[in-house]
Amino acid sequence: MAKKTKQTPMMEQYLKIKESYPDAFLFYRLGDFYELFHEDAIQASKILEITLTSRNKNADNPIPMCGVPYHSSTEYIKRLIEAGYKVAICEQMEDPKQAKGMVKREVVRVVTPGTILEDDAIPTKENNYLACIHIGDNGYYLSYIDISTGELYLTKTTIWNQLVNEVKGINPSEVVIDSKIDSELLEKLKQHLGSFFTLFESNHEITHSWKIAEPTNDELINLNMLYGYLESIYITNLEHIKEVERYELSSYMQMNYYAKSQLELTRSLRSQKKKGSLLDLIDKTKTAMGGRKLHQWLDKPLLDMNDLTDRHQKVENLMGFYFERVDLMDSLSQIYDLERLVTKISLGNATARDLNQLRNSLQGIPRINKILEVINNHLAHDVNSTSFKLLDEYKPLLEYVDSVLVDDPPISITEGNIIKDKVNEQLDTYRDALENGQKWLSELQKREREQTGLKTLKVGYNKVFGYYIEISRLQAANFNDDRYIRKQTLTNAERYITEELKEIEATILGAQEKSTSLEYDLFIVLREHVAKYVSGLQELAHEVATLDVLVNFANISESEDYVRAELTHEAKSIELEDSRHPVVESLIGKANFVPNSLSSDDDRSLFLLTGPNMSGKSTFMRQIAFCVILNQIGCFVPAKRAKLPIIDKIFTRIGSSDDTTSGQSTFMVEMMETNVALEEATENSLLLFDEIGRGTATFDGMALAEAIIKYIAKNVKALTIFSTHYHELTELDKTIDEVKNIHVGAQEYDGNLIFLHKVLDGPADKSYGIHVAKLAGLPESVLEESQEILVELETNAKNLRESGAVQLDLFDEREAEVIQEVVTDNIQSIVDDLRSLNINQMTPIEAMQKLYEWNQEL
Ligand code: ADP
Repeated sequence: MAKKTKQTPMMEQYLKIKESYPDAFLFYRLGDFYELFHEDAIQASKILEITLTSRNKNADNPIPMCGVPYHSSTEYIKRLIEAGYKVAICEQMEDPKQAKGMVKREVVRVVTPGTILEDDAIPTKENNYLACIHIGDNGYYLSYIDISTGELYLTKTTIWNQLVNEVKGINPSEVVIDSKIDSELLEKLKQHLGSFFTLFESNHEITHSWKIAEPTNDELINLNMLYGYLESIYITNLEHIKEVERYELSSYMQMNYYAKSQLELTRSLRSQKKKGSLLDLIDKTKTAMGGRKLHQWLDKPLLDMNDLTDRHQKVENLMGFYFERVDLMDSLSQIYDLERLVTKISLGNATARDLNQLRNSLQGIPRINKILEVINNHLAHDVNSTSFKLLDEYKPLLEYVDSVLVDDPPISITEGNIIKDKVNEQLDTYRDALENGQKWLSELQKREREQTGLKTLKVGYNKVFGYYIEISRLQAANFNDDRYIRKQTLTNAERYITEELKEIEATILGAQEKSTSLEYDLFIVLREHVAKYVSGLQELAHEVATLDVLVNFANISESEDYVRAELTHEAKSIELEDSRHPVVESLIGKANFVPNSLSSDDDRSLFLLTGPNMSGKSTFMRQIAFCVILNQIGCFVPAKRAKLPIIDKIFTRIGSSDDTTSGQSTFMVEMMETNVALEEATENSLLLFDEIGRGTATFDGMALAEAIIKYIAKNVKALTIFSTHYHELTELDKTIDEVKNIHVGAQEYDGNLIFLHKVLDGPADKSYGIHVAKLAGLPESVLEESQEILVELETNAKNLRESGAVQLDLFDEREAEVIQEVVTDNIQSIVDDLRSLNINQMTPIEAMQKLYEWNQEL
């Protein structure tokens, strides 16, 4: 056993505190520094790139140590949090000078990724959520809170995948989870969510009264757990947290996480950043709150026709007023982040600068109201229009803040210059003294110069010695005056004090100290007064944010030529004329983008999309999804004319984004996603399937694709676009009423392939793989040989078809004959099997399994 070294009392104290915070870096306050020891120091010195030293360097076991200055600690804390760690701040709880023995120290706060409030630690246009999951007897409960904005949401689901999906969608920085969770589920959750995890025991005792109407028992347990966690990291002041916003997942359009990420709604697939996403393109909001609101809307598109009509109407109204809109944008851009300012005010963290920002923001509200009034007056003539609600101007509050706070206050609230004159009589007296003090000093200097005849004599001040009268060394040699008491000798001068100067000094210095401390007190009173308006100001913030997003929609819709969609509940009656992909269009320029239409003729709403690679199939599918989503967040859509159904769920399988985290094959993931889509989609859903089945052998894939198409037509009946390389499938429109063939056109010209990017009716007639290969620059010899093989294959396939065999494109005659024999041998047993099936009672996956079986038999 290693010899136990005796610790110094300080180290003993450190180790004891550290014991309670094994998962956090312990910032241990020592004078002007926070010190880190042992493993914490080794790790932190690497992450923060600071020097690692050691305590007791000469001892047998020197203790690794590093430190950060107290004054710049915020920067270091932020960096550790960004790197995904927690930081426990341990302060000195008594003045070291007065402490008897060891200075008492305690952890006063634990900073975590989901609760950090430091300025600049969280992007302004993003929410920073801490999520909390409780596993109840009849479902999973999810609450999530953004402490910086005061929002708190609560929802529930009985389906594990839905929970994971929702958590992934809200993208919390931190997740607190019921310690009851079984380890397998936890592992899965961790695989899916990169977020910071803490296991926490659910708490059945009510410890905090959240603002919530008629909570269920499980909801309370969830919220208590959340509170328990916050309390454990010393966040107990939650007065600014708004009423719990409870919602049903089914009240909004549902998109699983795959769909969201494949469509790159809020983050680009490649960089996982906002840049390059749809959100990035449509976010020209002027306020931080507006930016966050738009993100929330995009995450939760609406289903309610009335709510949507209301948003659309407001956007249309705003579109009619160009100059007013420009004015509105200008006014909005002068409004600070009210939501986060209000939080700071409520938590007592707001500085005078923050209150100044509040004042400036409130000063901008009347101008916004004036513009809204002008718009409302014009709209009064239009029966369709609903007028804009005017914002609460908080006049008395604004007047009060403005009467107290100086115009341009400093950062510090302890050094004065915050409060205006004539606010407080006592303060004015101190200020008089200070001002007169300066006058007295200059008068004194003048008088002493006259009396002593020393013209260079001057009155000065220094922090250590206070006020003094300075005489040059030379003059001091012959100087003699009883009133002058020597105070300090410098190389070139002597400094004195007189009784009179002492008195003035007492008045001035006292006044300075007293006035700054009084100003601090007055500032706190002001801040506490403003804090009473927290919930009202939060409501104002919400309204400003909403207006900001609507103005933003009106702007894009006008500048980008978007159109208001006619809404319908009939999923099958989609009509999009000349629609565009907003992101691709912005990349390649409007003039270069070929607009495309989609309309379901005779209720044919299962579109089979064919066309060469690179012709624009997935772009087309995405643009349909974007039109649907933009429509349902309240925006107009990039098209010439649009009639859009209200879609309840979108499922996509676009491109080949391998699910690398789960370690499953692309094909398996594809099948699993397809299964989820087939199980959960309704008649009002949108399915976008890009070449389902290509991940396996040709026969397998084609069989699956065909079976899936049939299943959708018969059972799901959702609006579907299914792109495929299997030209054989285009025959399905003859047997299935719902199927409509469309293709992206391309033309051969002089041996080259010209992409038209135009979506046309009917199937594509040829696979253009070799032309694409040519475009990609493959060697001429490879291209020539592949051309020859293609001709051969096509001839063989033609012969086969003519001989009545199954439709095959890619096999030679011999192979086809063998297959033909096997088919004949097995066909009877499969037909028997098929007859015995009750297809209506089969799940999609069972159907697929059956297909596999048959496929194996063949
Ligand atoms: P596919 O899915 O058929 O392989 P993509 O949808 O990936 O093809 O499109 C390939 C490229 O063609 C895109 O990157 C885009 O630049 C261009 N493109 C697609 N659709 C259009 C269009 N409608 N107008 C102009 N260019 C387009």
